[in-house]
Amino acid sequence: MDILIVDDDIVDREHIKRTLRKTNHNWTFVETESVDEGLVAFASKNFDVILLDYRMPKRDGIELILELRNISLVRNVAIVMLSNSEESALALDCIKAGAQDFLLKSEVTSSRLERAILQSQTRFELEQKLYRSYQEAKKLAEHDSLTGLANRYSFEEALRLSITQKPRDKSKLALALFDLDNFKNINDTHGHDIGDELLKSVSKRVCLCLRENELFARLGGDEFAIILSNLRTVDNATRVNKRILACLEKPFIISGIEIIMSASIGIAIYPDNSLGANELLKYADIAMYRAKKLGRNQICFFEEDMQQQFLQRYQIEANLVGAAERNEFVLHYQPVFDTVSKDLLGFEALIRWNFQGRLHFPDSFISIAECSHVIIDIGRWVIENAIRQLSQWNRHKDKALSMSINLSVIQLTDKALVGFIKTMMQKYDVAPQLIELELTETALLENSDQAVEVMELLSNIGCRIALDDFGTGFSSVSHLQNFPIDTVKIDKSLMLVCHEAKTLALIKGLAAMLHSLGLEIVAEGIEDENSFTLCQELNIQRSQGYYLSKPIDSDAIEKRFLSS
Ligand code: C2E
Ligand code: MG
Ligand code: MG
Repeated sequence: MDILIVDDDIVDREHIKRTLRKTNHNWTFVETESVDEGLVAFASKNFDVILLDYRMPKRDGIELILELRNISLVRNVAIVMLSNSEESALALDCIKAGAQDFLLKSEVTSSRLERAILQSQTRFELEQKLYRSYQEAKKLAEHDSLTGLANRYSFEEALRLSITQKPRDKSKLALALFDLDNFKNINDTHGHDIGDELLKSVSKRVCLCLRENELFARLGGDEFAIILSNLRTVDNATRVNKRILACLEKPFIISGIEIIMSASIGIAIYPDNSLGANELLKYADIAMYRAKKLGRNQICFFEEDMQQQFLQRYQIEANLVGAAERNEFVLHYQPVFDTVSKDLLGFEALIRWNFQGRLHFPDSFISIAECSHVIIDIGRWVIENAIRQLSQWNRHKDKALSMSINLSVIQLTDKALVGFIKTMMQKYDVAPQLIELELTETALLENSDQAVEVMELLSNIGCRIALDDFGTGFSSVSHLQNFPIDTVKIDKSLMLVCHEAKTLALIKGLAAMLHSLGLEIVAEGIEDENSFTLCQELNIQRSQGYYLSKPIDSDAIEKRFLSS
């Protein structure tokens, strides 16, 4: 066993050597007289144990321990302190500094010293094990196990630290949050293993776009974050993030599957947007949300008005919950007429929301209700009330009127929807042929398998199905053939400019095509006599628009159209 003795007293050194030679071990000794010499000796050779005197003239033993522990924790060396001082505090100080044992020189016997050396070695090994497992636990606590990147916890710590330690120069810090677009689809289509591999590949690619001192973290799921510090201008942040979007452009090949992936990035800037870490995170999140809304694969910087809009949206979302029970919704009805006879055929139910003292139109809340899925409850409220109203209006009529009800694509995910509609028609004794359910083409695109299934079920129970807003989206003929559609509603945006030659030609073409497919046509947005005449000329069976009547509440409908 190789022993380094560091002691300024030659008599003590000789005593130690003599004592140890009495034991059965094979010792080799290197002796030094001071801390500095000891450090030099330690650097040139591996020792198993250092026997270290506490009191030496220039620097004491504890200083040597501190220097050694700073240089290398990995080199295996146990330290036994030797001293003449009986002070118990001193022994504790030595152990705290990193010695494994402490012996009084007066008590040194061969067996004691031998035991101290051997026990110190074991203790040292245990300490090392503990240290390594601490390091591992720390890594687990601070890193994301899938990608090896920093996790949310250490990211937030790092963000806080970089803000508090920021020099008072003019440099800026950018916090970029990014989220993979439609990542859920990858998991749903290819399974979680492929999803996980994709996340790993994405993080590897993005790492290549960053410098070593730029912190890159996975916050969870498909959400990542980057801190770019010491930026001279905001443009630097744009450049880095553009690089990130570009590096994701090349398709990923995971287990032989080609995957196209993009990301939406939101950026908040310190100190421009905020001086606080939490607020920066919130703002970057809002900007990311905006980037997604702008059509994904985008970079979006936080702007003051976003916060305002975000709050407003949040308020709407929160207040929509339970709004039906609080009777805040009302239905307005827009009459639909036979284009030739001008007879009233029925109505389209259009929802309004009484909120904060005024009536809100669906464009301001339906998409929010869709995101949070409250649309399912709201939709049921609409269905029940529209059917109940129709039943009441038809009670004294010879010729029954119809009711068109708008359905959101989210409602098609409600497995109980068809049953609910059926129950409502039975409850209010309304024939299914009088109920027309309106769906937009984008709804069909987004969820086509499920949509076809639900539409077929609805069609089978006898309801009519209308394709709403036709002429604005894809207007695909295949949709008209593949879905059980009875009626197509030509969108108001076309009818409003039907005097323009190009649009006129388009409407004529559409009408001819729809007729040839045997579909019934409704024109919406009839605002003047000219467009109404056009509908008559083109054999468009039903008409709806401000020229004929705006959507109005049930009292007004009764007064204007049902009083006779
Ligand atoms: P939509 O189904 O295409 O309804 C027609 C919209 O055009 C209505 O707007 C109506 O007020 C408006 N409109 C009718 N005639 C004219 C006209 O001559 N000129 C102009 N410029 N506009 C006209 P509204 O009530 O604001 O509804 C907007 C959209 O909100 C509806 O479009 C529909 O997609 C959706 N929506 C309305 N009620 C509901 C509902 O209960 N559930 C769901 N999921 N969506 C609804
Ligand atoms: Mg509609
Ligand atoms: Mg429409």
